[in-house]
Amino acid sequence: MSVSFESFELCILCGHHHLEPMIGYESCYLVKCRSCKFVFVQRIPTEPELIEHYSRYPRSFDVSDLTIKRYNQLLDTFESSRKHNRILDVGAGNCLFLIEATKRGWQAYGTDFGQSAVDIGTQHGINMKQGKLSADWYPANYFDVVTTFETIEHVNSPNLEIENIQKILRPGGLVYLTTPNFNSIERRTMKINYNAIEYPEHLSYYSPHSMNYLLQKHGFEKVSLQTTGVSLTRLKTSLQLKNKQAMTELFVSKESTDERLRLNIESNKFKLMMKNMANSLLTFLGIGNSLKALYRKK
Ligand SMILES: [Zn+2]
Repeated sequence: MSVSFESFELCILCGHHHLEPMIGYESCYLVKCRSCKFVFVQRIPTEPELIEHYSRYPRSFDVSDLTIKRYNQLLDTFESSRKHNRILDVGAGNCLFLIEATKRGWQAYGTDFGQSAVDIGTQHGINMKQGKLSADWYPANYFDVVTTFETIEHVNSPNLEIENIQKILRPGGLVYLTTPNFNSIERRTMKINYNAIEYPEHLSYYSPHSMNYLLQKHGFEKVSLQTTGVSLTRLKTSLQLKNKQAMTELFVSKESTDERLRLNIESNKFKLMMKNMANSLLTFLGIGNSLKALYRKK
C-alpha cells in the first residue's frame, strides 16, 4: 500500500517559496530556504508517526549536581527581571528546572506532552498544562520569564510558537531557548550521522542567524546569543549510529561522557578558564554545539 505524505511548499520561517533539498540529508527530508537559509523538514509527520515516536521517548531523572548548579546560574540571570514572579517552562520534561525555580520562590508553570511530566510537576506544586503551548492558557503579559530547553526543534511551526510566547510574556520579560546548532562543527563533520538529525523527532534546525531572525521578527531584542561546547556524548552516539550500533548513552544523564568531562573541568580553575575561552571562540565563530538564545520582549 503506498502512502502519500503532506509536505510544506513554503518556508515555515519566512514564507518564501524557493526551497532546496539538502544534498545528503534526503532520508530526513531536509530542505533549505533560499531566502532566509532556514533548514527544516519538508515532510509533515502524521499523528500516528508522532505518537509512535514519542511513546518510546527516553527520559532521565538522573541529573548531576552540576546540572542543578547550571539551572541555578541561569535562574540568577533571571532575578533582575522578576516582577510578577511567574516563570513558564515549555516542554518541562522531568521538571527539575522548575523545581529549582520554586525553591527560589517563583510561581512555576510548565507544559509538556507527556502525562508523567504533568504528574511530576503537579506533585511539586507546579501549575502544569498538557499538550502544545496555547496562548489562551494564560493571560497576556503574564510571565516574567519563559524558558524552553531543547524543544523548539521538535515543532514545525516556529512562528506560532514564538508568537504565543510573545503574547504571554510581559514587556521587558525574558525568553531563553536552547537547541542544537545546525552550524556546529559536529554537524558539519558528521553530516547525516550527526545524531541531532532525526525524523520525526527534530523538525526545525537552527543556526544563530535563523534564531535571531525568528526572535526579532516577533518583537524581541537580543540580550545574548551563544553557541557553546563540543558534545562528546553526541559525537560518540553519532559514531554508534553511523556504525549501526545501539546508542549507549542518554544525554541528560550523570553517567554520560559529557557529564564526567564537565565535572572534571569544573574541579580545576585553569581548565575552567580554558573552557570559557574555548566557548567564547565557538560563539564568535558560531560553530559551538548548543545554541543558547536570551532575548527580551520589547
Ligand atoms: Zn525562509
